[in-house]
Amino acid sequence: MNRIIYKEGSDKLLYICISFTLIYVVMKKIIIAIDGVSSTGKSTMAKDLARELGYTYIDTGAMYRAVTLYSLHVACAAVVQTFYSLQHGFFTSGGIDEQKLQDAMNDIDISFRFNPETGRPDTYLNGVKVEKEIRGMEVANRVSPIAALGFVRRAMVAKQQEMGKAKGIVMDGRDIGTVVFPDAELKIYVTASPEVRAQRRLDELKAKGEVASFEEVLENVKTRDHIDMTRVESPLRKADDALELDNSHLTIAEQKAWLLEQYEKVVTSD
Ligand code: C5P
Repeated sequence: MNRIIYKEGSDKLLYICISFTLIYVVMKKIIIAIDGVSSTGKSTMAKDLARELGYTYIDTGAMYRAVTLYSLHVACAAVVQTFYSLQHGFFTSGGIDEQKLQDAMNDIDISFRFNPETGRPDTYLNGVKVEKEIRGMEVANRVSPIAALGFVRRAMVAKQQEMGKAKGIVMDGRDIGTVVFPDAELKIYVTASPEVRAQRRLDELKAKGEVASFEEVLENVKTRDHIDMTRVESPLRKADDALELDNSHLTIAEQKAWLLEQYEKVVTSD
């Protein structure tokens, strides 16, 4: 009799413990920082993970790309919902006119809106959807010098910290685990060989109808890595407490399983 009562009691206790653990895991929102070199599929990985966890996804690369697009086509006419490319914007033969861009920073409004058709957020620049425009080679070839400017980084980082302060986010970029959220509970640093990355990027561009050669894309990937890693302002580097993931030979499914495993470890610890 005593034994039965004891068993019922311990079952109840176990049930209560499991319930509390599940509630805690469900409610414990964390920040997941995904950094790494260009074209490793970080965005796709981060978007899928966010969807799986019911988290918000923030693509910080899109923000630097949007600033670059603005710099290229300064005469933005939000009224007619389009961009004029009548001039070269803030780009001169000698590079970027930093003073002009700095003066215009307050006029650049970047936001994300969830697109139910794709299940992913689209990037808006001053109210205009620019998701397609920011992904082309015109922007890719100019974004890293723009992202190396201190005043641009400070403005973007402040916005990113604001967006992530309620936690429950997956943010991908170059400095998320080192600068934007150095206390993020889970940090991943993604790498893959330049050739694998260039091929993936080329496939993406082709699927969107963009014309580019493998050599051009490979050169762009390598150049961006170099600029991102050697810039003075928050250079790309692996945070000491980040987990490294080389996805050169991983399938999307294998990668997702690995990421979920790391997430589970974090939310069920302590
Ligand atoms: O991630 P994505 O390739 O779209 O980023 C475009 C560029 O923006 C990168 O090559 C890098 O120069 C810059 N970037 C950055 N810091 C971030 C995200 C992107 O400097 N957090």
